[in-house]
This record gives sequence, structure tokens and C-alpha cells, in this order.
Amino acid sequence: MDVISHPACAHLHPTGHHVHPETQLRLARLQERFPQYLHGAAASREQIERVHDATYVASIGAIVEDAWLDADTFASASTWEAARLAAGCAIEAARLGGFALVRPPGHHALRALPMGFCIFNNVAIAARYAQVELGVARVAIIDFDVHHGNGTEALFAEDPTVLTVSLHQWPFWPGSGGPGVNSDHLVNVPLAAGSGDSEYRAAFDSVVEPAVRRFAPDLVLVSAGFDAHRDDPLAEMEVTAEGFSELASRCAALAPRVSAVLEGGYNLDTLPDLVAAALEGFGSEVQH
Ligand SMILES: [Zn+2]
Repeated sequence: MDVISHPACAHLHPTGHHVHPETQLRLARLQERFPQYLHGAAASREQIERVHDATYVASIGAIVEDAWLDADTFASASTWEAARLAAGCAIEAARLGGFALVRPPGHHALRALPMGFCIFNNVAIAARYAQVELGVARVAIIDFDVHHGNGTEALFAEDPTVLTVSLHQWPFWPGSGGPGVNSDHLVNVPLAAGSGDSEYRAAFDSVVEPAVRRFAPDLVLVSAGFDAHRDDPLAEMEVTAEGFSELASRCAALAPRVSAVLEGGYNLDTLPDLVAAALEGFGSEVQH
């Protein structure tokens, strides 16, 4: 599996790493760990507007000075370019069957609103790209970031050609994704704080794999967040590196093609090895 990123992901959209966990150092560390990555290009406005309102897209392009878009989401003059690169690398990952290492993350972003560090919904833009430009009919998005993938869920809630699956700590921020919110193309797996590899394995056995197999996707896109790791500072889960490798491997087994997009993961010391573990699970040779 190819790794796709862009050098600017490690510089643009500075959030101030002493005060904000979603920092450009995340990508700097990852690019050091995977120096052979392929370079993606910025998504076009047309590709982004398949998912987001044009007025919202324009509002991100118009940011000229530092601003808090909500209590968690910081933006500056370079956010527009960073967010277009993140979406474009996700598109390239969908095209190549790769893993896009990007920031800002995307899975909380709504049609016309940023949320929770997210500006554009990278995985959703990649899903629409695959459908429109690659002719892929049915896409399943599996989100194992520790937070509920509420933005992705909302964007596809009325679309039976896209299955969204989210496993997440619950109750927890952002509060959505609790028990009982499910349909044939919308699956939530709320998990108690303290859950680890065995709970995630059981959830895949009993809920995720049966739902995805029933849906029979042509493509699985993984919203790969690593903040469910036992050493992540933002959440209270206990997943190990081996656990992420198994989650990736199980996702890859569910469709003829698989791609992944980075979401969260905020421990700068563990994140590169967790991505390496996931790449191994997806079937890549990774140098240690
Ligand atoms: Zn997260």
C-alpha cells in the first residue's frame, strides 16, 4: 500500500503545538518515518463541492488571518491550501489503494461547518471521487478513530450507496453515535471507555463484518484515527499497535479494494509506529 502525503502538510495550517494537539508536528514525524511517500495534489473546488456547500468552501478560501472557527478548530491564511491538499491526498489514496497521511483531519466536518479540528471531510470527498470519477458503485467507510465520525455519517445518512461504520468511545465527545442509531447503511458501535483489542475484535466479529458483508462494497475507505491507542492523550481506550494492525487487516478483507485516510492520533511518539502497524495490516511491507 502506497503512502501519500505532501511536504506542505508538515508546515501549513500551523495550530501552535504547545496549545493544540492537532499540530503540524504530527505530519513532520510521519514524513520522517515514511520518507518514500508519494506526493498528492490539491483537490479541485469541484471535487470538494461534491460534499461541501460552495459558500462554505469559499469562506475557508477567504480566511486571511488567524481565527478560531469553533472552540476546537483553529484556522489561518494557509488553512485553505492545507485542507485542499488533505482532500487531494485522500483522493489519490482512493485512486491508488493507498494511505493518505494528511492534516487537518476530516471526519467531523459537516456540509457547511468545520468541527473538531476538521475543515473538509477528506474521506467523504474521496468516496464521492471514487463514485464519480472511478465508477465505483458502493463504498463502505469504516472509521476506527476514537471519536464518532459524525460528519461522515451526516453527509451520507440519506445515501444508500455509501455505508458508514463508526467505532468510538461513548459516551464521549461529540456525543452522537450512541446505541440504537443504525440502518442498513449506517452502523454505530459505541464502546465503553477502557475498551481495547478484545472489545474491538468482538465488535468486528459481531457487528462490523456482518454489516459490511451484507452491504457488499466495491471499495472500503478507512478513516484511520489512532487516538484509541492506550497512550493517546485525548481519549481513554486501550488499543495496542497489534490491535490497529488487526483492524486494518480485517478492513482490507471486506472489499476488493481498500484505501485509508489519517484522522486523529495525538501522541507524537507513538503515531508513526501505529501507522506502520496499520500499513502492515493493510498488507504493506514496512521497514522498521
Ligand atoms: Zn479522534
